[in-house]
Amino acid sequence: MARYTEAQCRLCRRETMKLYLKGDRCYSDKCAIERRNYPPGQHGQGRGKLSDYGVQLREKQKIKRIYGLVEKQFESYFEEAERRKGVTGTNFLILLERRLDNTAYRLGFANSRSQARQLVRHGHFLVNGKKVDIPSFLLRPGDRVAVAESSRTLQIIVESVAALPRRGVVAWLEIDASKFEGTFRALPAREEMNLPVQEQLVVEFYSK
Ligand code: SF4
Repeated sequence: MARYTEAQCRLCRRETMKLYLKGDRCYSDKCAIERRNYPPGQHGQGRGKLSDYGVQLREKQKIKRIYGLVEKQFESYFEEAERRKGVTGTNFLILLERRLDNTAYRLGFANSRSQARQLVRHGHFLVNGKKVDIPSFLLRPGDRVAVAESSRTLQIIVESVAALPRRGVVAWLEIDASKFEGTFRALPAREEMNLPVQEQLVVEFYSK
């Protein structure tokens, strides 16, 4: 499957904000944004004001990078969001949040979404007691996500769970860290998704 291979910190620098792509490093003073908060490249510091299209494009790229998706996947989520009742931008973010890899990350079983994706692919998670190794698997309210018993001693999972108090858990998830499991309680409301993004700009981008 296609994926980004560009250095992750460059992606944050391009968006001039922390996208939290590298786990613990993102919270340390080694974070590239703490040191050089301007776009990479020779002309990084000299870019002028963006056009409306440029602003919409950057917002789209930002969200795509936060969730680690490629263009085709991203577009298909948008199309699905448009087909659903309600506000397209909110539907869109809800679909992204329902992904199993994202939820494993949000539950604190991985340090970053990319690490969560890798762990899902390697079969370290169960959904409602059954192994699921598809990162894009969409969870429904009430679904239980657990670390497979044989994977509960994996160092990266143990360390991630230990860091959970610092990161906190979002309102629509419930976690029982002692059992290495959590529940996708309900679809998130927009105000609960503490995301520094303006999804309406993505709607405008694709409406052209
Ligand atoms: Fe982004 Fe994390 Fe790199 Fe900082 S350390 S630039 S937040 S990926």
